[in-house]
Amino acid sequence: MLFRRLHLQLTALCALITISILAVFTILYLSVSEHSLRNNLILTFRHDFDTLVNSLEQQPMLTHQFLLRMEQTNDYMIFLWDNEKPLTFNRIRSHEPYAGIAQSIYDNYLEETAAAISAGSTSASMLLSHDDRMSSGIGYIYTGQMNAAEKILALQRNEGLVLLVISPNTDFHSRILQQRILFLLLSLAGGLLLTLSAWLFTGRMLRPLQENQERQLAFISGASHELRTPLAVIVSAAEARPPHFEETIKAEALRMGRLVEELLTLSRLDRSRFYEKQPDKSAGLLCRESIEPDTFLMNFYEQTEHYVSACGKKLKLELPNETIPPICADRDKLYQLLEILLQNAIAYTGEDGVITLSMDCNPPGYVCFQISDNGIGIPDSEKDKIFERFYRVDSAHHSREHFGLGLSIAKEIVEIHRGRLRVTDTPGGGAAFLCSFPARPVV
Ligand code: ADP
Repeated sequence: MLFRRLHLQLTALCALITISILAVFTILYLSVSEHSLRNNLILTFRHDFDTLVNSLEQQPMLTHQFLLRMEQTNDYMIFLWDNEKPLTFNRIRSHEPYAGIAQSIYDNYLEETAAAISAGSTSASMLLSHDDRMSSGIGYIYTGQMNAAEKILALQRNEGLVLLVISPNTDFHSRILQQRILFLLLSLAGGLLLTLSAWLFTGRMLRPLQENQERQLAFISGASHELRTPLAVIVSAAEARPPHFEETIKAEALRMGRLVEELLTLSRLDRSRFYEKQPDKSAGLLCRESIEPDTFLMNFYEQTEHYVSACGKKLKLELPNETIPPICADRDKLYQLLEILLQNAIAYTGEDGVITLSMDCNPPGYVCFQISDNGIGIPDSEKDKIFERFYRVDSAHHSREHFGLGLSIAKEIVEIHRGRLRVTDTPGGGAAFLCSFPARPVV
């Protein structure tokens, strides 16, 4: 429940941040693109208007066909006034919706020209205006050769030809609209995708935390369960005081002490996973050093051979001829790992038990320690489970000496060295544990 709520909250936060960034960039892109579209439109219209004025001024005579062609090729509306009279050309196409606008632009233009002339200007200027709805350009057309005085005279009398070009900008308008709709749809799709990936991403991020939480809970309940039995025995022995009750209490207390020691080891190893980089023995963290694996295995063999013989088993050492590269590991932890596997091999082999220590460089780039025995072996269905905390195969349940923590400690030791612990069958029966460590130094 807690993780589900956290998952939802994190998804919402991630989605909100990424969608906001997406929205800001989309709006920026749209405004830049619309700005440049608008600039292009203005430049094109200005250029077309100038070309039209020039070509009209070059024409010896204006014909309807010429103007119609100009309108159709450019999709403009052309209005002309000759000596203040609208030319019949205006009625050739259906310009009705724009006729009123055209007339008011024309009236305005005349007023502005008159004002400019009285202010001393010698010629009428061309006026261009633009908005998203339409662009327009208006100006006098001087056909034939007129000098400045003649131009002023003509303007004062309102004589001459006035050209007005209107472009409704429908194409521009629909392009802007299309672009906005497209970006809106893309942003919605992007938002959905981002939310989905935020959901998957945060789910992935939370999974190790959730697994860790579940592991911790299972660990605490396993530990409590294991501690309950010796405590119950101690309490009942102290109450009933049967013969030798002191020995019973002592044995159970020792058993509890061993369990607490194993629990502490596991908790220190868990700690090492989080604080891998800081070597600190007192806090249970790793102290890595370069180790020659073959020398290390030989020393381990020499130190444990007597003990194994005393347990009635035989210990063999098989070293390869090839050179084994050094590994970077915590010497004490490596010793503890081999000890756990050796103790298990002793515990799960019979009278004629033979335990073999060997090593190779398989897979390449790794150094692999092997401890194999000819004991009872491990069924395939149990091979994965035996590394879980407090897990014991049924046949080992009766033994109160085994808590089911040895292999979980071994696995932790291998994994904090970035290695891998596996179990296979020994040919002919028995179990073989393979611990691979990366050959390159891990700092
Ligand atoms: P335990 O304290 O019970 O030995 P471990 O975690 O070391 O706990 O081992 C888990 C289980 O794996 C054991 O209960 C045992 O059934 C099985 N096991 C471990 N090592 C061997 C082995 N060498 N041969 C057969 N079974 C083994």
